Amino acid sequence: MKKISVVTLGCKVNQYDTAVLLNQLPKSKYTKNKHFDEKADIYVIDTCTVTHKADSEARNYIYRAKRNNPEALVVVTGCYAQVSAEELSGLKEVDYIVGNSHKSMSLLRVIREGEKQKEPTVFISDIFKEKKKKFDTPHIDYFPDRTRAFLKVQDGCNYACTFCIIPRARGRSRSLDIEEIKSRIIRLRDNGYKEVVLTGIHLASYGKDIGTDLYKLLLELDKENIINRIRLSSLDPADLKNDLIDLCADSEIICPSFHIALQSGDKDILKLMRRRYLPEKFVSSTNYIRKKMPDASIGTDIMVGFPNENEENFKNSYNLLKESELTYFHVFPYSKRRYTQAESMNNQVDSKVKKERSKTLRQLSSLKKINFYTKFIGKNINTLIENKSRGTSSNYINVKIEDNIYQTGDIVKLKIKRIDGEYAVA
Ligand code: SF4
Repeated sequence: MKKISVVTLGCKVNQYDTAVLLNQLPKSKYTKNKHFDEKADIYVIDTCTVTHKADSEARNYIYRAKRNNPEALVVVTGCYAQVSAEELSGLKEVDYIVGNSHKSMSLLRVIREGEKQKEPTVFISDIFKEKKKKFDTPHIDYFPDRTRAFLKVQDGCNYACTFCIIPRARGRSRSLDIEEIKSRIIRLRDNGYKEVVLTGIHLASYGKDIGTDLYKLLLELDKENIINRIRLSSLDPADLKNDLIDLCADSEIICPSFHIALQSGDKDILKLMRRRYLPEKFVSSTNYIRKKMPDASIGTDIMVGFPNENEENFKNSYNLLKESELTYFHVFPYSKRRYTQAESMNNQVDSKVKKERSKTLRQLSSLKKINFYTKFIGKNINTLIENKSRGTSSNYINVKIEDNIYQTGDIVKLKIKRIDGEYAVA
């Protein structure tokens, strides 16, 4: 029996990719360590490269793997492997580098047949240039360590925001067909999952490459009442139409929780980012969600310190967020990425300024979250029991459960008693 340690950095799509690997490994031959730093025969690092911090985090795990067991096989995969194979090839700790281009066809074989290498063996092709790449990520029966399963239905992105390295790491947009999605949801439902989170690199592009779209997918899933809960991961404001919001509002199974990536509240910065909408579009869509679903959670991604962002630009972001219907936001300081247009832009913003602006927006986000949670004190909310002390409501409230008499995975109505920091207490 071989011991394997696995870590996944980054987004839900990457976590799904790792879940696929763990589903494919025969339990008779491999056992997964609970913690990455336990001694293992094989270490797999599924990397992210959205920021330089993510790259250094991946390198940190590589060194730790070597320290934990110098004889172990070290396999690096994911977006950092896809974009920076050359850089990773310089690390003697690494045995195999498997890009996203080869994740579905080579990763499992490398783990099953791989041997220690004098220098890293690389499995990679230029995914960015592959015009006809098909969606090739297999299904899963279970999602390790989660009660709410992610389901990858789309990969890649055809856009080119000037700060973003993802298209280079993930290639062009490609989608899984609706019938296969339905059968994968049924498989997870029959294995006890009550919630599936539909995810993709650019979920709003779902289906455009196969003659359908996200609206038609949700209409099908809703019509068939296929599972208790369907949750959507991040959406692009440019593609968010009111008919999709109406469908979600009328649905019994689509969760009233939205994450719509704004990035900046300033029109000039949005233009420099090559985003495809104006601040007004974002405001009108989020206002429409609030009108149709008064209890919906609405989150966003906001970047600070994009090149050329001055005090006035930042103020525009701050004011939009403050006056908006948003209930939380994830704040990202701009991170220079190779191969992106913004890397060579003038007027790069000082890291101290980025830090201050991040702090200001994170404080505002906490206020928004507490105001939103406070609305539910004394009310009963549908909560999926995640473990002994935590649950997640359909409108994405983190619930701390004091006297938990419920089964993990059950959906129950819980009365909110008070707010405790980032949690609503039941
Ligand atoms: S839409 Fe823009 S930010 Fe999102 S993955 Fe595509 S290029 Fe990156």
